[in-house]
Amino acid sequence: MKRSLLLAALLLVSGFRPASSQELLVVREACSYYGESIAGEIYGFSSDREAETAVERIMRYTGLPQNFTIKAANVPNAAAVIRDSKRLILYNQTFMERVKRTTHTDWAAISILAHEIGHHLSGHTLEPGGSRPETELQADKFSGYILYKMEATLEDAQAAMEAMAGEGGSETHPPKSARLAAIANGWMEARDQNPRTEPRATPAEKDRRPVREPIADEERDDLPPPDPVPGNTIVAQCLFQDGSVSFVTRTGDIYMNYMGMTISVGRRVPSNQAGVAWFYVVQSSDPTVKYYLDLMGLTGTTYAVDTSGIIWGRNAWGQAVRMGHVTYNE
Ligand SMILES: [Zn+2]
Repeated sequence: MKRSLLLAALLLVSGFRPASSQELLVVREACSYYGESIAGEIYGFSSDREAETAVERIMRYTGLPQNFTIKAANVPNAAAVIRDSKRLILYNQTFMERVKRTTHTDWAAISILAHEIGHHLSGHTLEPGGSRPETELQADKFSGYILYKMEATLEDAQAAMEAMAGEGGSETHPPKSARLAAIANGWMEARDQNPRTEPRATPAEKDRRPVREPIADEERDDLPPPDPVPGNTIVAQCLFQDGSVSFVTRTGDIYMNYMGMTISVGRRVPSNQAGVAWFYVVQSSDPTVKYYLDLMGLTGTTYAVDTSGIIWGRNAWGQAVRMGHVTYNE
């Protein structure tokens, strides 16, 4: 008796969840992300921290409380369903792992969960009849919308759909091209409402980005001269991975040394974006330099310098890439 009391106390303290958290769910009509039918007996299991955190994060961007019940289950991928007046989000753990491995981004699983949340928030799970193409596109649009707000790129927002959806549609689910367009539509609507100059580098993006080692100082041929920008106090150096160096003055002007000349190449612009210390905007107060920058389409190019000093830019596909880093003098 004493022993079982002690065991019970230990289990309580350690937050152990008893095996009864596995339950048979009656699921009749539910949206399944890629349109598969949900057949047979569905069992719900306790969810993992990753899914809980993802749903929690998504809800934070809606301003609504997180009061969904999240369960790992033997559904084909993910599903939104109401049972006993509780709004459930079911997801297949193995499938989510596969999505992550295929797309190499955490955003893929988040976008699927956001889609399911979109069904609940739009009241689709209250309607009899299950999925319809219109409601699927609405949930896809919501997913794109919320992922922009979470600072995902469009590519990240579309990754799960791009990688795993079948080309053709079905009676319940629209074709892949329409669903990708719906995600883009939501993502762009959010962007129009709240444009951002540069993407913030997210941990997920950092993980899948090949990181090039910064070029060692001895390899640089343009090391800063003793007084790189005469008459100005230099507060920071920007060391780019192509080996170029530029200097940030106290007044926020950015210069480079080029063939013995000091040329104006940019401005330091303050940021109120979380995680971004400041923006490096390419521009020149020198008409000749400006002419060349314009010619190369560089004027107005903006790099984001994050709080750890890494300079981020965009590649031709719109993906955030590491351009270099900043060292501060004070
Ligand atoms: Zn759906």
